[in-house]
Amino acid sequence: CGIVAYIGQREAYPVVLKGLKRLEYRGYDSAGVALLNGGNLKVYKKKGKVSELEDYVLGKDLKSHIAIGHTRWATHGEPSDRNAHPHLSGDGKLAMVHNGIIENYAQLKKELLSKGHQFTSDTDTEVLIHFIQEIKKSNDCSTEEAVRIALKRVVGAYVIVIVDEDKPDTLIAARKGSPLVIGVGKGEHFLASDASPIVEYTKEVVYVNDYEIAILRADELILKNISNEIQTPYIQKLDIEL
Ligand code: GLU
Repeated sequence: CGIVAYIGQREAYPVVLKGLKRLEYRGYDSAGVALLNGGNLKVYKKKGKVSELEDYVLGKDLKSHIAIGHTRWATHGEPSDRNAHPHLSGDGKLAMVHNGIIENYAQLKKELLSKGHQFTSDTDTEVLIHFIQEIKKSNDCSTEEAVRIALKRVVGAYVIVIVDEDKPDTLIAARKGSPLVIGVGKGEHFLASDASPIVEYTKEVVYVNDYEIAILRADELILKNISNEIQTPYIQKLDIEL
């Protein structure tokens, strides 16, 4: 029920973990992170509190400058380690966190199963990231383009954030019907379900609109709509004291 992501020169894991704690008030049953370090993707996830995730990753390799994090409020599949986010695509190259519901996931899952996809969780989320990867493969296109095509077929309210092992300098996000805020820093970007994980780093934010796709690099922010038209980000100044 909460999303945090970071790309930039800082160590990403502590930023994301702290952000997840700030979103704890929303309620959740599991927590997880995906960390990208060069071409090396790592996913750590656990049923329970963010502090349990923290204990679980002790001693693990957390080095990265790109990370996505999630606190889950289960809607499809019981709260468990394997249903916790992030979820991976079939080829293991894409990791995704997701808030909300994919209403037509059963239909998409049926199509994917007939194409040989295998699933390791009961979530609608895993179906969506497999679907995106399937589009990427069959259209031979970029992840962001596959996201755009996928969103045309997906019914429901959602925010998604994706890291791609083959693009270790990029975060991809999209929303429809659930809130998503981008924090614009100097040579860094933040993403979160609300501004609370962002305010301590930057006061400049962009609220992503429905059916928009955000492509974030440390020093670049591209917004597109579902018709593939570039949108000019409207940067607002947050009026919040720490
Ligand atoms: N529908 C997804 C799930 O059950 C996401 C739930 C959420 O918003 O946390 O895993």
